[in-house]
Amino acid sequence: MTRNVAYYQKNRPLKIFLSYYGPHKHLFFLDMFCALVICLIDLAFPYLSRSALNHLLPQQEYRVFFLLIGFFAVAYVGKGLLYFVVSYWGHVFGVRVEADLRRDLYSHMESLSFSFFDKNRTGVLMSRVTNDLFEITELAHHGPEDLFISTVTLVGAFGIMCTIEWKLAVLSFAIVPFFLLFTIYQRRKMRRANLKLKAQTAEINAAIESGISGMRTAKAFQNEETEKEKFKVMNRRFVQAKSTYYKTMATFQGGMEFSLSIMPVLVIGAGGYFIMRDAVNYADLVAFTLYVTTFTTPVKKLVNFVEQFMQGSAGFSRFLELMRLEPEIQDAPDAQDLDSVQGEVRFDHVSFQYNNQAQVLRDISLTIPAGEKFAFVGPSGGGKTTLCQLIPRFYDVTEGAVLIDGHDVRKITQHSLRQNIGIVQQEVFLFADSVLENIRYGRPDATDEEVVWAARQAEIHEDILAMPNGYETYVGERGVMLSGGQKQRISIARVFLKNPPIVILDEATSALDSVTEAKIQASFDRLCEGRTSIIIAHRLSTIRNADRIAVVDREEIIEQGSHPSLMAQNGEYAALVRAQEQIAFSKNHAM
Ligand code: ADP
Ligand code: MG
Repeated sequence: MTRNVAYYQKNRPLKIFLSYYGPHKHLFFLDMFCALVICLIDLAFPYLSRSALNHLLPQQEYRVFFLLIGFFAVAYVGKGLLYFVVSYWGHVFGVRVEADLRRDLYSHMESLSFSFFDKNRTGVLMSRVTNDLFEITELAHHGPEDLFISTVTLVGAFGIMCTIEWKLAVLSFAIVPFFLLFTIYQRRKMRRANLKLKAQTAEINAAIESGISGMRTAKAFQNEETEKEKFKVMNRRFVQAKSTYYKTMATFQGGMEFSLSIMPVLVIGAGGYFIMRDAVNYADLVAFTLYVTTFTTPVKKLVNFVEQFMQGSAGFSRFLELMRLEPEIQDAPDAQDLDSVQGEVRFDHVSFQYNNQAQVLRDISLTIPAGEKFAFVGPSGGGKTTLCQLIPRFYDVTEGAVLIDGHDVRKITQHSLRQNIGIVQQEVFLFADSVLENIRYGRPDATDEEVVWAARQAEIHEDILAMPNGYETYVGERGVMLSGGQKQRISIARVFLKNPPIVILDEATSALDSVTEAKIQASFDRLCEGRTSIIIAHRLSTIRNADRIAVVDREEIIEQGSHPSLMAQNGEYAALVRAQEQIAFSKNHAM
């Protein structure tokens, strides 16, 4: 089932929803079939009991009577098994639908562009992948089952009761609509109270967290008393919210209890009157009493369905909203693969702004010849990272063009474009996996030997051997178990493995101390050899030997040239170099 965005845009929500049943319809029908049999057993028991009481006992057919009872005992064992099937396989069906939804949502999100992830917070997206999908699948599997079972049970019971004595049937049923309304009303109140309670809980948890982590500050400013007062107020609000919630819950349960017990009373009362007038007999009354006690479950299920439907359909429309989003960056219909790359990078009158916000780059023209070592320097926020992100087309230029070997990047397939570019970012992201697999991420089909070779090139091999499990060492969530320099070298090893003709190093050493930096410098130089390398540098000492250096500031390139020529020019770059030398000098003398 591979579908594109157009499928989700063109089709109606219900059709899309139902399409997820398709691959698992055998489970769904099994579920519904068992549910139906359960209903029928429930409906048959009171009716057959009545017949037995009416005919078998007066005719002294005790053997048949007990056989019938025995048959029902067996049937109820069967019902228990059917319940197992409904509950287990029904949920398995739900889980499988959920997995399909998650697979589609996840692969769709993978196709979306950087700008989408700029606009949407991770937490919100997470809750979409978990909560929303859960609610959709609850609806997908409980919805039809609940609606179906409840309708069959209620309509069936009412129909059978009518054939016995319709007036008594109508009387016994009279309470059902009230019961239904009461339940819906109470449930809604409960939900509102629950939402408030959740909000209060979140608030008090946040207060506790910030209170504990801010305890030192509170003490330093002697604000313990004010903090305590603030907390007391919040605690009181929490008690209130919780009390309100329990009150609605208790009302609901009280109402349920009342309805449950009043129904047989009503039936016996009304039935007594009908017996007096000879309209029904005792056996009929037994059947009626048995039927009304089975009402509560379907009514509760109907109410559940209403809620599930509201939450599930809201979840589904949020799901669709995401699935209908087009990636902002897509391959052009006539996109070509980029092969045998020389590595010339050219910016041609490039201007750029993020999502119609302020201008970040203005009319930049620049050619980086193939194989050159090129450096960008300048104050932070000047637009260096942004400029480099335009090369692999993480964002599209607002005006102008970025060209590789003379081809506009928008005319190249994204896959072949990014295949040819290696990036070492300032913030290295490591996956919760082994060191080996994290390096292999640079080229998933690389052999273990190639990974080791890349690690040697990146000067991380010795470090890895010293780790508890060598290459199999687990690096922890986001690589927390490694130092900044180690993470950095792993990301360099990834690029060695990828072996692209163009590399971009974005402030790759700025977070490191000078000893580690010196170590990495050697592997950087090796990485840059024979490739077009674009280096964004914070420490200017690291790019002194670059072929060319450009100073990016306030949307523009204000200077460019080699280190000696820029020094001779005695402009912005020379000033930056002098400022850094000053700092280095005073640091050395302070030690
Ligand atoms: P540098 O790398 O030179 O420090 P950046 O390219 O990171 O500068 O940032 C240039 C400008 O673009 C800054 O003003 C920054 O706030 C803005 N910016 C960077 N990334 C984004 C983004 N994803 N969305 C919106 N604005 C951004
Ligand atoms: Mg930057």
